[in-house]
Amino acid sequence: TELSNLILDRIRDVPDYPKPGVLFKDITPLLADPVAFAAVTDELAGMYEVDKIVGIEARGFILAAPAALRAGAGFVPVRKKGKLPSETLEESYDLEYGSAVIEVHRDAFVPGERVLIVDDVLATGGTARAAVELVRRAGADVVALAVLMELAFLKGRERLTDVEVRSLVVV
Ligand code: IMP
Repeated sequence: TELSNLILDRIRDVPDYPKPGVLFKDITPLLADPVAFAAVTDELAGMYEVDKIVGIEARGFILAAPAALRAGAGFVPVRKKGKLPSETLEESYDLEYGSAVIEVHRDAFVPGERVLIVDDVLATGGTARAAVELVRRAGADVVALAVLMELAFLKGRERLTDVEVRSLVVV
């Protein structure tokens, strides 16, 4: 489609970042183009009728916040451990080396609220899996997970079979 071609054209491949052998998808050219950024924002905002849009730190924030405003939904941050000031729920997940912990405020949702979770890239799916668990434990109904780009060869979708996954582009 026109939107997926625009996105593909504005995402830069950076070899060997953050380490040798990794081809990093850099979304900063897309963010720097107001037409592309607005098109992505509108697409995310129009996808579902939701009460809240959750952004996953840090690039998820950049996409989720304008989408929430546009949709007339609230914005909720899912952050790395230790960054949220009030009482939190936490969820840990495995990384290639070691593990990571993400958090959400315990009172971020009214029970049963409909939520869209947004991030920039779906890779192995570990981050998204943890975010879905977290948001559900906080009492919300996860309507879908939306990402700008899905790296299909890493099979993240296989870890998310119980949630609707929407990718604006799949590579
Ligand atoms: P996963 O947990 O392996 O699915 O990795 C997804 C998380 O890592 C997301 O929060 C992404 O922001 C980040 N990530 C992984 N690969 C890339 C990439 O190529 N570009 C940008 N972010 C990435």
